[in-house]
Amino acid sequence: MIKTKGYAAASAKAPLGPYAFERREPREHDVAIDIKFCGICHSDIHQAREEWGEAIFPMVPGHEIAGVVTAVGSKVTKHKVGDKVGVGCFVDSCRTCAQCQRGFEHFCAKTPVFTYNCREKDGTPTLGGYSDKIVVDENYVLRMPDHLPLAACAPLLCAGITLYSPLKHWQAGPGKKVAIIGLGGLGHMGVKIAHALGAEVTVLSQSLRKQQDGKRMGAAHLYATSDPDTFTKLNDSFDLIINTVSSPMDWNQYLGLLKVDGSFVVVGIPDKPVPVAAFSLIHGRHSVSGSMIGGIRETQEMLDFCAQHHVACDIEVIPIEKVNEAYDRVVKSDVRYRFVIDMASLK
Ligand code: NAP
Ligand code: ZN
Ligand code: ZN
Repeated sequence: MIKTKGYAAASAKAPLGPYAFERREPREHDVAIDIKFCGICHSDIHQAREEWGEAIFPMVPGHEIAGVVTAVGSKVTKHKVGDKVGVGCFVDSCRTCAQCQRGFEHFCAKTPVFTYNCREKDGTPTLGGYSDKIVVDENYVLRMPDHLPLAACAPLLCAGITLYSPLKHWQAGPGKKVAIIGLGGLGHMGVKIAHALGAEVTVLSQSLRKQQDGKRMGAAHLYATSDPDTFTKLNDSFDLIINTVSSPMDWNQYLGLLKVDGSFVVVGIPDKPVPVAAFSLIHGRHSVSGSMIGGIRETQEMLDFCAQHHVACDIEVIPIEKVNEAYDRVVKSDVRYRFVIDMASLK
């Protein structure tokens, strides 16, 4: 077994603290990775604080994992020692269902094996990336961009793919007007990727505080949703709206901003259901949809796209001792725009 150091939450009410555990020795298709950086996703906070229902403790969160390969099993062909690699939100899936077969492992009919707060097929709890090492099957390991800083690419593995996938699916590109609600970890990647795809991007933020940052990232406009005029001005404006907000809010207001046949896509995960009025949908043939991360093939495509277009995340690198403080700041929307833990601080 491989001795591993990390940070874990012992229970939903406990702050994260140092935790020692063991990873399995690499099997023939496994890759052993020295974790260099791990992003802090708002989903880590939802889960460590048990906001999504029953959680498995002790919990080592973290699913934006970037590191370097240190060993490979005898049958590994996809990665080699020294490669810069990444691991995202899941580390296995059934591999046989229709969804896995078409590369939609994230929609696996039996449930993907999530990187933490889940169980491997043999029942072992999975432990995530706030740690110095991880062992993952080669088919669930990604190649990281060569010429971009590794720390700034770690959040692509969740925030990046979560926005890339719906932007591609709903065909964001030249001639399309896209709005992103919430300029946080997910939202800022949405702005950068939609801009790189050629769409005209508008940010809908709670205030005008992030206006300059939004424009620097590629947004043509930023409007404050605290200003009621915003909803009058922008009536009938967008082909696609992606909502990254983690709290409940009135979606009906935003549905009014869609053009005819426009789509409102939910990626943020509030802990309570949100009511949608029939009139918000029928007038303008509007759709409400959702999207969750992406499969391995599409995640690699996103990483290659970001490498080609020089798209990486705006990050604040922190030592792991500051993780609890970082959680509080994310909840207060006080992050520009993703915290990334430097695992050298675990040594
Ligand atoms: P984040 O960094 O906290 O960003 C959320 C942003 O939403 C904030 O920066 C803020 O932007 C805005 N916001 C926050 N509270 C708000 C409120 N009460 N009303 C209106 N706007 C508010 O979080 P994240 O890491 O991007 O994650 C966002 C959500 O997506 C979380 O629920 C997370 O669990 C979920 N998620 C889903 C997927 C998926 O596959 N679908 C993947 C990853 C994460 P402004 O300051 O600009 O208003
Ligand atoms: Zn995430
Ligand atoms: Zn499956």
